[in-house]
Amino acid sequence: MKFLLISALLLSFVTHAHALQNSNNTVVLISLDGFRWDYIEKHGAKNLAKIAKQGVRGSKMQPVYPTKTFPNHLSIITGLLPINHGVVDNRFCDTKRAECYSMGKGRDDSTWFNGIPLWNLATMQGLKSATYFWPESDARFNGMTPDYYYHYSKHSDYQNRIEQIIQWLKLPAPQRPQLVISYFSLVDSIGHKYGPDAEQTKQAVQQVDALMGQLQQRLDALEQEINLVIVSDHGMSTVEPNQSIAISNLPKDDKFMVKNTGPRVLIYANENTTAADISSYKARLSKAAKGRYTVLTDNQRAQYHYQNNGRTGDIILQTTAPRSFADSGEVNYLGTHGYAYSDDMAATFIANGPAFKQGITLDKVNNLDIYPLIAKVLGIELLSKIDSDGATLWPALKN
Ligand code: AMP
Ligand code: ZN
Ligand code: ZN
Repeated sequence: MKFLLISALLLSFVTHAHALQNSNNTVVLISLDGFRWDYIEKHGAKNLAKIAKQGVRGSKMQPVYPTKTFPNHLSIITGLLPINHGVVDNRFCDTKRAECYSMGKGRDDSTWFNGIPLWNLATMQGLKSATYFWPESDARFNGMTPDYYYHYSKHSDYQNRIEQIIQWLKLPAPQRPQLVISYFSLVDSIGHKYGPDAEQTKQAVQQVDALMGQLQQRLDALEQEINLVIVSDHGMSTVEPNQSIAISNLPKDDKFMVKNTGPRVLIYANENTTAADISSYKARLSKAAKGRYTVLTDNQRAQYHYQNNGRTGDIILQTTAPRSFADSGEVNYLGTHGYAYSDDMAATFIANGPAFKQGITLDKVNNLDIYPLIAKVLGIELLSKIDSDGATLWPALKN
């Protein structure tokens, strides 16, 4: 009797420990760059609508500030705010390092980043991970990369990405990744060129929608416990080139360096520039704004979690759509993102698979909550402090 009791206890412990360790769930995480929250309906994405309807949809997903590609992808994959993972824009400078970052620079130097990306979190806990592109997925965070990955090429064929995802999932169990990640830039590129309402953008949405429909079908055919999570990084606003703000016409000051165009301008003080110099340049820039942009106040920066940390700029000019900053003259695009949060900047969240509820729509969800959500589905533990408690996405889970 005593023996039986001990065996039963032991068995329950082992089962419990197993449940904590590894859920048998696979997660396929896809990012569709610039896929605005309302594109499914607006541009008739039938497959995505179906995947969402049979699973979970976030009616809108809130990106982090600034609503740019690299800050948001890094936030999704680390659960950290940009000031904490370090990628505060697609391009920025670091006054302490006296160096500037631009997209993809982590491939040669991962010291730009903090945090544990999900692919490493999985690998550290005995699961295999694979990425067919994701911003900075070929960088060695803490000396590690995903088990399988590619160096980024914008021109790599989309169908090949689907083939590779399926092949990875057909590997024998010891080599098979339980976390598979991929990225598609088409909808963003076309959205910039023609604007969010354009026929060309509709066609791009349809093309990506067909790929997602195919992916879902082929995942189903594998008969594994696969969860498909499809997200985007931000939305897209219409730009009116004739409302461009030419930086060349703004007050100049050689004590400062101007970085970036688009919805925001980051301005860095050169060495030996005093606080008084900064205040006086801010005042001149404010005076020149004439309602076209704002010089962000410390309060606004705190609200956006974008305090000055040597990377985020001593002065930030922020405009609103349909305006955008050009170096000089007018911008040559009809859509962009990088504005402070509004509906136009809201992103997409869809999840479908055995770990998720079926047929529910959540209110606005938070992209920082994706990290703990996926860790939970994979049955892996968080190994560091993150900027999320997962709250907006826990209701997506079955258990
Ligand atoms: P954005 O300017 O915020 O629209 O940035 C989107 C651009 O980032 C796209 O044109 C992509 O080609 C580029 N991009 C995406 N992933 C990577 C990567 N891993 N390395 C370099 N560039 C990338
Ligand atoms: Zn993007
Ligand atoms: Zn973009």
